[in-house]
Amino acid sequence: MQKGKRYDVVVIGGGPGGYPAAIKAAQNGRSVALIEAKEMGGTCLNRGCIPSKTLIANAEVLHKIQDAKAYGITTGTVQFDYAKMVERKDQVVGNIRKSLEGLITANQIDIYRGFGKFVAPRALKITGQDNTEVLGDHIIIATGSEPRNMSAFPFDYKKIHDSTSLLELKELPKSIAIIGGGVIGCEFASLYAAFGVEVTIFEMLPRIIPMEAESVSIALAKAFQKKGIKIVTSAAVEGIDTKGSGITVKLGGGATHKADIALVSVGRKLNTNEVGLDKAGVLVQENGMIPVDDKMETNVPGIYAVGDISSKWWLAHVATHQGLVAASNATGHPMHMNYNAIPSVIFTEPEIATIGMSLDQALAKGYTATLGAFPFQALGKAQASLQTDGFAQIVLDKRTGQVLGAQVVGHEASSLIAEMAIVIANELTVECITETIHAHPTIAEVWMEAAFIGQEAPLHWPPKKMAKK
Ligand SMILES: Cc1cc2nc3c(=O)[nH]c(=O)nc-3n(C[C@H](O)[C@H](O)[C@H](O)COP(=O)(O)OP(=O)(O)OC[C@H]3O[C@@H](n4cnc5c(N)ncnc54)[C@H](O)[C@@H]3O)c2cc1C
Repeated sequence: MQKGKRYDVVVIGGGPGGYPAAIKAAQNGRSVALIEAKEMGGTCLNRGCIPSKTLIANAEVLHKIQDAKAYGITTGTVQFDYAKMVERKDQVVGNIRKSLEGLITANQIDIYRGFGKFVAPRALKITGQDNTEVLGDHIIIATGSEPRNMSAFPFDYKKIHDSTSLLELKELPKSIAIIGGGVIGCEFASLYAAFGVEVTIFEMLPRIIPMEAESVSIALAKAFQKKGIKIVTSAAVEGIDTKGSGITVKLGGGATHKADIALVSVGRKLNTNEVGLDKAGVLVQENGMIPVDDKMETNVPGIYAVGDISSKWWLAHVATHQGLVAASNATGHPMHMNYNAIPSVIFTEPEIATIGMSLDQALAKGYTATLGAFPFQALGKAQASLQTDGFAQIVLDKRTGQVLGAQVVGHEASSLIAEMAIVIANELTVECITETIHAHPTIAEVWMEAAFIGQEAPLHWPPKKMAKK
């Protein structure tokens, strides 16, 4: 007989996968325990989405002020205090964390502070601030991920940083080498360049953000180059020398590059090694991922896995939805996870947001796909607000008109993608977009214009040469 307080649902990990699962289970009338080893809110709140976007918001204000002349506004010399920006970031994170803890308590969820480890299929030992054992009829594993350390150039957190330690720096370097041109690498590149840091990105593959459509990654590379960000693609970084002042990146073929510090952002390590999964009989893949079905249930009935550890989508909003799906199933309300309409945002300048299929992916899947694309330049609101760089494009099935995917690069892309999330999640057609009245003048009109082009009936764009009847 296992000892410990018994709960209907025990959640391990209080990140954006775990805490929404705990709230949903509690809302459904179940007794719930939430075990968290570090800070409530996980990577997203404490070391990811929120701190990085708070710093990025500072860069956006700086940009606006630097562009003020174009709006007829004279500002004089503009200065900034990076340490104060970091202080504001810490305040934002602290305030949200406090509200979140209040929310969890208000939902009558018992919080255990410590590291949770399976000692039997339904029993967890907690070690840390709280030292006890708990039992759960249903268990949701939401242990998330951490920056991946590379043995060839390990983090020293002084000159070789991961995303967490970089967010804590109170002083900007003069130059930075960023190893890895994925989402995190590009967001930091954009942020640091905005503050005048000399940035060089080294990406092993032939283009930055290689997981996005080629047109999108080309657009970002061009925008980055305009800002002076150097991009070295197909780059095999073999090591980083920290001797002397600064660092030296050593590349294959003997080439080197000097900078003050380096950020290594080459992927994440999944936190599934030390949770005692073997004691629960939960299968785990070699890369640390826990296989789950569309109910987010593992191979062991009643044990679920959500968030970064359970799919290739390492995004907070995906983790949250998975958490809701797992908790609903654990409490007798069937729900299924569907990955067809996952919005993905890169908070660079310009912003990038994508959802569903790129044109190449749709064609590869056998669709008779086509593209409707429209530049921001041709929008009244973009001109009025001097946000003319960028474009939006819609991928659609020519046969049925169904919207299969969408990509947008430019001002407010992160908010614009919400419209396409509704369209794609509900399997709507391109007519649904053109028949929806879009407010004027707004940047959101870009979807309506792109949809008209997709229908080969452009409104604010010259028609293709049409055969005379
Ligand atoms: C710099 C950066 C920027 C990002 N920006 C964005 C963004 O803008 N948008 C977006 O959608 N995503 C972003 N992400 C990704 C996002 O943060 C993750 O996808 C998300 O946090 C994953 O949620 P999770 O619940 O799976 O895990 P996590 O958020 O990692 O939370 C897991 C929690 O479990 C705890 N834990 C682990 N093991 C145990 C244990 N055994 N016992 C108790 N507790 C345990 C950890 O302490 C942690 O608090 C960013 C990530 C980084 C690093």
